[in-house]
Amino acid sequence: MSQPQQQPVLVAGGGIGGLAAALACARAGLPVQLFERSPAFAEVGAGIQLGPNVTRLLQAWGLTASLEAVAAYPDNLFIRTADTGAELGRLRLGAQARARYGAPYATIHRADLQALLLQAVQGEAGVVLGLDQAITGFEQDANSVSVHHADGRQTPGALLVGADGLWSRVRQQLLGDGAPRPTGHQAYRAMVPQANLPAALRCQDVVVWLGTGLHVVQYPVRGGDWLNLVALVEDRTQQQNPGDRSGWDHAALGADLQRLLHSSAPALQALVQAMGGWRLWHLQVRDTVSSASQMAQGRVALLGDAAHPMLPYLAQGAGMAIEDAQALGQALSSAGATPKALAQYSQARWQRNARVQKRALRNAWIFHASGPTRWGRDLAMRLLGESLLDMPWLYRGP
Ligand SMILES: Cc1cc2nc3c(=O)[nH]c(=O)nc-3n(C[C@H](O)[C@H](O)[C@H](O)COP(=O)(O)OP(=O)(O)OC[C@H]3O[C@@H](n4cnc5c(N)ncnc54)[C@H](O)[C@@H]3O)c2cc1C
Repeated sequence: MSQPQQQPVLVAGGGIGGLAAALACARAGLPVQLFERSPAFAEVGAGIQLGPNVTRLLQAWGLTASLEAVAAYPDNLFIRTADTGAELGRLRLGAQARARYGAPYATIHRADLQALLLQAVQGEAGVVLGLDQAITGFEQDANSVSVHHADGRQTPGALLVGADGLWSRVRQQLLGDGAPRPTGHQAYRAMVPQANLPAALRCQDVVVWLGTGLHVVQYPVRGGDWLNLVALVEDRTQQQNPGDRSGWDHAALGADLQRLLHSSAPALQALVQAMGGWRLWHLQVRDTVSSASQMAQGRVALLGDAAHPMLPYLAQGAGMAIEDAQALGQALSSAGATPKALAQYSQARWQRNARVQKRALRNAWIFHASGPTRWGRDLAMRLLGESLLDMPWLYRGP
């Protein structure tokens, strides 16, 4: 007699979190059906940093070779003041991170990370990937869950994982806690081939430039062939009236940023001037996760930005989505596709996610400080150096 077919785990969203979740569920031996609303799996043209807590998981999923083919592995993270360029502190990455944490500190193009996860997912039997399939809602009872599609269809499953990002539909229905909150912080992002930069501006390290009300981060991507730059800027007027400047052309955004940095170190000004193809994001957040029930209820769980969006000031949003996925896979392996597994998952994850969210928020205050706070920060960095910049609680993993 043939076995009844096992119901799939349904995943809403095919970003980094959704693909990582699909991979972890498949590796736990469960069928998966993923629904992505876009017509293609596509990521924005920008970089992403991955701490050893994240690369360790990618290695455990057998993705070391595909990561090495596209990532860069900076030797150092330098902290500089934006106004003079003076070095405030240095964290050795490279061999030091590998020795300390058993995994490297990597920097990567988002599309490359998404592509390597996609390739791994496509290599798993039992995963069905659906594009152009927005989820509009769900229903759950004691025995199953089903998702609703825009054309009125429904797909039944054993569990639903809402990995549908900042504006999550699944979250809206599960928690009903409204829209994310504008922060008044904006991210200007650009990438260029290093070969197009003057030799003095090419760089294979992570460099963080701290200014008043802003900071700039640069790091290599695409095996070191490209340089990624992101400038994070507080704009209090935008907080009251966020507006939409996403349509601004690249040259206007570049000029805007140059104006903001007009009194900064010549090397930083030269770098911003040399970059092209600027894009702008208005950063939004939600309150910190405050209980396990905010990450899972019954047969529905949230993962990644849907569960815990954060300011990118600890460079760990995607990292936490990947950690979530690993924890989800582990819970499913031990308890099967059951509400018990989701309860285990949310219990394992909510406090760490909350800690990272809070730390990212605190970094906004520290990175952008002025006056006595800035003075104290700079002194502490100079005196304590690496012991202040290293974060074993984070990089060792959960
Ligand atoms: C400026 C900036 C810099 C950052 N730097 C870093 C960094 O260095 N390191 C790091 O770890 N993180 C970083 N992050 C955070 C990171 O980008 C996010 O945390 C991560 O991309 C979240 O992934 P996700 O899959 O949860 O959500 P998303 O990437 O938002 O993916 C959600 C997916 O769901 C789809 N979707 C939405 N609604 C539906 C629906 N109704 N039905 C079906 N599909 C749907 C979307 O199309 C999308 O593909 C940064 C963020 C910013 C803004």
